[in-house]
Amino acid sequence: MREDESGRVRARSRPWSLTDAVLRGYRVDFELTKDQRDIQRAASEFIDGECDKEKILAWERDHTFPRELWEKACGLGFVGIHFPEEYGGQGCGILENALVVESFCRRDSSVGVALSLADFSSEVVLRFGTEAQKLKYLPLVTGGKYISAGAYTEPDHGSDITSLSTTAVREGEFFVINGTKTFITNGSIADYFAVLCQTDRTAVPAYRGQSIMLVERGIEGLDASEITPKMGIHMSSTAELSFKDVTVPVSHLLGRENRGFYQVLEFFGESRIEVAAQALGIAQGSFDRALAYTKKRTQFGRKLTEFQVTRHKLADMATKIEAARLLVYQAAWKWDQGKADQKLTSMAKMFAGRVAVEVADEAIQLHGGYGYITEYDVERFYRDAKITEIYEGTREIQKNAIASALLGR
Ligand SMILES: Cc1cc2nc3c(=O)[nH]c(=O)nc-3n(C[C@H](O)[C@H](O)[C@H](O)COP(=O)(O)OP(=O)(O)OC[C@H]3O[C@@H](n4cnc5c(N)ncnc54)[C@H](O)[C@@H]3O)c2cc1C
Repeated sequence: MREDESGRVRARSRPWSLTDAVLRGYRVDFELTKDQRDIQRAASEFIDGECDKEKILAWERDHTFPRELWEKACGLGFVGIHFPEEYGGQGCGILENALVVESFCRRDSSVGVALSLADFSSEVVLRFGTEAQKLKYLPLVTGGKYISAGAYTEPDHGSDITSLSTTAVREGEFFVINGTKTFITNGSIADYFAVLCQTDRTAVPAYRGQSIMLVERGIEGLDASEITPKMGIHMSSTAELSFKDVTVPVSHLLGRENRGFYQVLEFFGESRIEVAAQALGIAQGSFDRALAYTKKRTQFGRKLTEFQVTRHKLADMATKIEAARLLVYQAAWKWDQGKADQKLTSMAKMFAGRVAVEVADEAIQLHGGYGYITEYDVERFYRDAKITEIYEGTREIQKNAIASALLGR
């Protein structure tokens, strides 16, 4: 359609043609670029080259964060690959970050999750911090000197963080923080924390009175106690944080006061794509192992892959993974295009998380008794898969978000 001189809309003089569309650049391209495939390959080769089974099982058994490996990953630019170069990143997008996370988790679920969460929540500093805050923290995170954490959940406020018990009260040029945060990834090992606090206790609704404070490890009044044992992701620390009169200068307020809730929601739009990529990698890694095992294993004089039931299981697993991949990459791509789509992101996280759990479960089944034994990776992948349906918003919370986008609240 076009407008004539009088402003009336008139039909185009020529009918729409495919040639026009191509010339105008209207196209759908599902191919990764060569650079993106190189990033994927480099991430996979890094884990293969640096991790052997013995190391992985020791880290897992001892619940140890693989610190040396993380430092090397930072040195090679994998951690914070999506941060701008001026802060030590590679200037890549969320899609490239998702490719790294997927590749890491495909090689090993526990190592992948631990490495991908080492910079957790530094994105809030990147998106909302002052220049001084960005310059202070981000180069340390990308440079392998600082591990970060985001402290949003509280014992009584998990899925619902619209009101909080943790407070930050202004006293002159300082904020004084009191409260408890729980289930905080990297809680025992992080060098700094982004902490969501209630700064205005009279705000209605309460979430309009929340702010993020940046708090460094070692400050007086801050204690972390590791929550252990847990089902999976044993290389990743999960801790409860207690704040007793923790006093930070006002310069530690992240961005604008009383905008914290909105900042966290926007951050989740980004971080949920990363969790979806973890789930995708875990699903793919489980599938790879199931495929290799069923090709080798013989029962009743036949390879397992000769039984139709095995073939159908593998076909179902591969199909689910491919569907999850399309959602995850599309959500990441949209973010990078500046068209962040919360509905699509929630779909990607919800779907990929379910696929990871189902595929890892089936991978154990296809291994029979061996699948239940720790030496076989699928046991670990199965335990690690589940968290992707819980943190960064449970499966039900994603479904609520999708339904709200479709139907309104
Ligand atoms: C290993 C691990 C790491 C974590 N890392 C972090 C971190 O780094 N930072 C951080 O802040 N938090 C972190 N979390 C916390 C995590 O995000 C929360 O556990 C999660 O959001 C759920 O909150 P909750 O545990 O309080 O469960 P609840 O909110 O009490 O939910 C219990 C059940 O009720 C359902 N439910 C709740 N509300 C609704 C609703 N409106 N509609 C339908 N169903 C509903 C939930 O889906 C769930 O099934 C982590 C958790 C774990 C286990």
